[in-house]
Amino acid sequence: MFKNQKIFVLGMGKSGVSVARLLAKENHVLITDIKCDDLELIKELEELGINVIITKKQNEIFDDSYDYVVKNPGVKLDHPVVLMAKKFNIPILTELEVAYRYLPDVKIIGITGSNGKTTTTTIIYEFLKAAGIPVHLAGNIGYPLCSQIDGIKKGDVIVTEISSHQLVNLDKFKVDVAVLTNLYQVHLDFFGTFENYKMNKLRIFNNQDEKCVAILNKGDKNVYELTKNLKAKKEYFSSKDEADICMNEKDIVYKGEKIISLSDIRVKGVHNYENIMAAILAAKQFDVSDSVIKEVLNNFAGVEHRIEFVAKINGREFYNDSKATNVDSTITALKSFDNDVVLILGGLDRGHSFEPLLPYLKNVKHIVCYGETKERIKEFAIKNNIDVTVTNNLEDAVHAAYNMSLEGDTILLSPACASWDQYKNFEDRGNEFKKIVRNLN
Ligand code: ADP
Repeated sequence: MFKNQKIFVLGMGKSGVSVARLLAKENHVLITDIKCDDLELIKELEELGINVIITKKQNEIFDDSYDYVVKNPGVKLDHPVVLMAKKFNIPILTELEVAYRYLPDVKIIGITGSNGKTTTTTIIYEFLKAAGIPVHLAGNIGYPLCSQIDGIKKGDVIVTEISSHQLVNLDKFKVDVAVLTNLYQVHLDFFGTFENYKMNKLRIFNNQDEKCVAILNKGDKNVYELTKNLKAKKEYFSSKDEADICMNEKDIVYKGEKIISLSDIRVKGVHNYENIMAAILAAKQFDVSDSVIKEVLNNFAGVEHRIEFVAKINGREFYNDSKATNVDSTITALKSFDNDVVLILGGLDRGHSFEPLLPYLKNVKHIVCYGETKERIKEFAIKNNIDVTVTNNLEDAVHAAYNMSLEGDTILLSPACASWDQYKNFEDRGNEFKKIVRNLN
């Protein structure tokens, strides 16, 4: 708990605002950002007694009189205020760490990794909720833990997605059940090297003891090597090797016993089976029964915008994978389908190459493209003898895809580009896609 402390909150994102609201009850809080257009929000925070300062020169309003800095996870480690705080020996915390100090005696499941965090977190939450366990979904997934403190009781379970940025300033936060999904070379602009990125991911296990559990991807060499010496009890999942939970061509097998047939799982793709296996291991720590697990997986259609099933129209299945803002994610999606696919590609042009898609386009009978990258995608398709149609926008692209598809085909929006040339974010793009598809009916 924090009382009568002077606290500097750096960043007015969702988590910064929720931490400021919580701390303002008993402390002196200043919150700052370089910009904020939401005048209502500023007014509301000021009414809570919070000092709101919008400035590009945050170092000029910071000094050694502060007891703590709470840093938005995305703020870079070489931000002038972060450097000054280090020099003054002022502790730097994140919203998650602050929330932790307000929690009653609860169990925490923390999920990190390069990919699959949101999906795994959501499935764990669904398992526990269906089993009647009092569970809260929190963290990087859009619901800051600080904003939920009032509703959390002793004995509850918290399922929280933890990004690598949030791990950087983790201090006392103890994760009873930690999940590490996989490790890819990402966020190197923030962490400098893959080695630094991996060492940072290890921090999720920092405060674990022998009573805690670490759920690890045995099929990921980097995860396996990195986590050899943990204090916690290790439980492994793998889509490739024998493990506590693993899979064969037909089933998912937990400690030697079949738990569910792959055909009874609604979401597609080996990557999703990995997320599911990790989630089952977490649920098993809370004695969730096989029947609850099966029922949830029969119904779980995926997290919105991630290979999300939208509709079946005249024998064509439409999937929304708007979250695929880069080529790697589109490859993951393509690996998930074995029938004929009409693929919708396009969006913001970052100058990235589409060539890495080529080995995964065997089932793609036609590409429809739109957006800033449409001409480059057309060139790529023509060069590789793939049928292509160029359109002006997503609506035209969906209609074109539908017109050239046949019964039994999948029409997949997995654009391999960010959305910002025509949309506010990938969620907007995905929602628009779903609307267009539903209007086809
Ligand atoms: P995160 O929260 O880590 O960004 P999500 O669950 O939101 O992950 O999934 C984002 C994208 O990452 C998915 O659309 C898919 O392309 C890919 N993905 C999801 N799970 C995995 C996994 N276990 N392994 C590899 N890629 C994955």
